[in-house]
Amino acid sequence: MDIFAHGLWSYQLVGRRSRIWPAVVSGVAPDLFAFAPYVAERLVRGELAVGKPETVVIPTYVFRLYDISHSLLIAGFVFALLYLILRRVPSFLLAWPLHIAMDIPTHSRLFFPTPFLWPLLDYRVDGIPWSTPWFLLVNYAALVSLFAFHASRKRKGRR
Ligand SMILES: [Zn+2]
Repeated sequence: MDIFAHGLWSYQLVGRRSRIWPAVVSGVAPDLFAFAPYVAERLVRGELAVGKPETVVIPTYVFRLYDISHSLLIAGFVFALLYLILRRVPSFLLAWPLHIAMDIPTHSRLFFPTPFLWPLLDYRVDGIPWSTPWFLLVNYAALVSLFAFHASRKRKGRR
């Protein structure tokens, strides 16, 4: 799924039940972790960093960072570690596994299929690319509906 939609879904599904901005940051962090260094590298080299590059020109480190940030096993390990240290896992961090769960069916094998069982298994789902026009339309229509629903509930609550 695209990073803006991840932020908006995190806002709606996690942020409303915890802290909004930390949830949004947690929801976009897996993609920032994987792609921000490469985007920065391209900007420094003077290359336009907009648009989808061919996967063959993307450096291997980007795929390794993507493996780390898009693994439910890594997220589970970090959550277990946080629980051991803090005796709790901050609820806004649930936006991280939500990001992974939403990426599993919205990436095809052709462009960054989600390595949700990495490093134990290399199984990846061949999903519908999030950039498919009808999917973008349905996804953003669902988000707009959800924001409108909450806005109307908030207005009714003030009366
Ligand atoms: Zn992602």
